[in-house]
Amino acid sequence: MQPKRNTWQREAVRASLAEAHGFVSAQQLHQVLRDSGSTIGLATVYRNLASLADTGEADSLQSPEGENLFRSCATQGHHHHLICRSCGDTKELSATVVEEWTQRVGAEYGFTEIEHVVDLFGLCERCRAAGRE
Ligand SMILES: [Zn+2]
Ligand SMILES: [Zn+2]
Ligand SMILES: [Zn+2]
Repeated sequence: MQPKRNTWQREAVRASLAEAHGFVSAQQLHQVLRDSGSTIGLATVYRNLASLADTGEADSLQSPEGENLFRSCATQGHHHHLICRSCGDTKELSATVVEEWTQRVGAEYGFTEIEHVVDLFGLCERCRAAGRE
């Protein structure tokens, strides 16, 4: 349970996450909050992001570099992401083929309650056209 006095911080983190473009790290979000005059600490930002992810209000994933990233997603429920590693632009995907494959593999090996995380990283069209990498 979060003490009540932390509620404004959770709201600040939630609001700035909603405005962020694509997936952001705690450090990036912390910088945005500091730039807008907040005195919030990095550990508090991280804790609130983790808590938003826990309650399903934010999506979280690990970048290929192993960094935890967060996003306030438009899509409710299970979905996948296609993320530009240069600008962070994110598409939400449903991946029927992955869901079917999961079911099939589970049935084959007698497993149930299988969970999976599939997020794709690449370079978006705009970044490629701009010669970014
Ligand atoms: Zn998402
Ligand atoms: Zn891009
Ligand atoms: Zn899936």
